[in-house]
Amino acid sequence: MPHRHLIAGNWKMNGVKASLAVAEVIATQSRSHSARVALFPPATLLPLMADILKGTDIILGGQDCHHADSGAYTGDISAAMLKDAGASMVILGHSERRHGHLEPCALVARKVQAALRAGLEPIICIGETLDQRQGGLTIPVLSRQLADSLPEELKGREFQVSYEPVWAIGTGLIASDAQILEAFALIRRYLDQRFGAHVAPHLLYGGSVKATNAGQVLALEGVSGALVGGASLTAEDFMPIIAAA
Ligand code: PGA
Repeated sequence: MPHRHLIAGNWKMNGVKASLAVAEVIATQSRSHSARVALFPPATLLPLMADILKGTDIILGGQDCHHADSGAYTGDISAAMLKDAGASMVILGHSERRHGHLEPCALVARKVQAALRAGLEPIICIGETLDQRQGGLTIPVLSRQLADSLPEELKGREFQVSYEPVWAIGTGLIASDAQILEAFALIRRYLDQRFGAHVAPHLLYGGSVKATNAGQVLALEGVSGALVGGASLTAEDFMPIIAAA
């Protein structure tokens, strides 16, 4: 079967009811393309989006979840709630959670366990900061994030790892082909060693993907898709990325 790229749009803290029209346009226009398309709207839009996308191939996902299944956690959302609202995937360990909310790898791993318990496919993000890259720490940082954010329960399960250099997110600075290939080789080696034949690696790249560079990134050996932030907010920006896959 030919490989189908996954093009995932992470809307972050953007989107109100009026934005549902964008999702409808994306769903309609993406029918003529071969990529799998996933949208990660804010949780408030999930049930409404699930309704309007019924019968389409668009995959829905959450942007984060709590590590517990339920309980006294004011303001939090569980993986089961995301699932109930129409999600089948969840992004975990995004750098805006790791850095903005000081989430350590061990917490990301617990969230991955919670996602798997609820039947959600996790997209686990890893990536180095600019300081870490300039300090020659990229490989050890990525290795530690992989070792500490991926729980044993992933064995035999479907999941995705997204390489997202922090310095490339929302900056317009995309990682070079060589930087992406180096990180992917490390991730693939790690997944092979740890999960062996049980895992078919689904590796995404994220960080300033847009219409002008998507074709080049997606053509790289081993890149199975892209996680797109800013350029997923309008159909004008997002459709050419889907078309490039
Ligand atoms: P960006 O975000 O496309 O706006 O750089 C990517 C991401 O955060 O996954």
